[in-house]
Amino acid sequence: MENGFLCRDRFQDLLEALRSLGYQCIGPQVRDGAILFVALVAAEELPRGVRDIQAPGSYRLERTAGPRFFGWANGPQALKPLVFAPREVLWRAERAEDATIRFIPELPPPLRLAVIGVRACDLAALDLQDRHFLGPPAEDASYAARRASLFLVAVHCSDPSDSCFCASTGDGPRASTGFDLALTELDDGFIVESGSGRGAQLAASLALDAVTGDMRSEAAAQAEAARARQRRRLPSRDLRAALFARLEHPRWALVAERCLACGNCSSVCPTCFCHAGVETPELDGAASVHARVWDSCFTQSHSYIHGITVRSDTRARYRQWFTHKLGSWHEQYGRSGCVGCGRCISWCPVGIDITEEAAAICTGTGHD
Ligand code: SF4
Ligand code: SF4
Repeated sequence: MENGFLCRDRFQDLLEALRSLGYQCIGPQVRDGAILFVALVAAEELPRGVRDIQAPGSYRLERTAGPRFFGWANGPQALKPLVFAPREVLWRAERAEDATIRFIPELPPPLRLAVIGVRACDLAALDLQDRHFLGPPAEDASYAARRASLFLVAVHCSDPSDSCFCASTGDGPRASTGFDLALTELDDGFIVESGSGRGAQLAASLALDAVTGDMRSEAAAQAEAARARQRRRLPSRDLRAALFARLEHPRWALVAERCLACGNCSSVCPTCFCHAGVETPELDGAASVHARVWDSCFTQSHSYIHGITVRSDTRARYRQWFTHKLGSWHEQYGRSGCVGCGRCISWCPVGIDITEEAAAICTGTGHD
């Protein structure tokens, strides 16, 4: 629902309104040459007049003369680290004097987070993570606690990067669901829409200005331009069937010659959820801490089962990542595991491009 227009110089009012409801604000800021989501106190901390230049194996920021806070596509993080922490203690075990063992669950500290500047692809990825961590057969208590604390302020993408292809996966560049508030950034300010009851209440508290017809026309043109600007895409055919019919395609060996098996692609991917369990026992054996840490298809240990590393080489590991993401994910979650954010393309140190590999393997095109 469209709620009104927030002038740029009143952006701080939005942050204050969220804080008055008990939320700590997290928002995009320039850190170490990239856009990262970190604690946000003042609107001046937002990346005003910044754009990102992305390409396979390349990410850099440039200054522009423009007034916009969100004129960039994305950084290496999405919402994933905020709900599925890179390392998280899940429980402790303690041995009593009578040798019985007690398991004590640990939950993250209660913290209400409002995340500003969430992209459409990030929301689609969060929905996938929800299906994994909250769906049957069991809800993950740590994920559920973090997820319940989120207030999401989306900003529709106006400047996708050259790595983005969310239009081809159907997940962007405009956010359509999953947000509390969504903002369309124009040069003078923001058209505010609400997507939840609490979002509507917050918007009502801001005493917004009226949205004009010119603003709506500019927003529509901006959305269409953002969509048209995306040049990458996944093949439109049934990738699940195409991939599983081509498990011995020679392209797997070619990509494995380039792939470093570093796991960057799964770290930055907002939908990857694989993890390992790590036990840290105390020296006297009386207690132990069990933590969950991010893992990846690309580590040797991830496919170690009963004395055997099932996927012993990079070809098998890359193929596993790829065929799960674009193929068998459909059976598990009813859709592809790729939301078209392009992060795995930009943050791959050797510039392996998932869209190029999909085209080469599934349609016989590409650059091989
Ligand atoms: S596979 Fe790549 S493009 Fe697709 S969601 Fe993951 S990081 Fe983004
Ligand atoms: S595809 Fe790229 S990012 Fe992924 S493991 Fe291989 S080298 Fe690393």
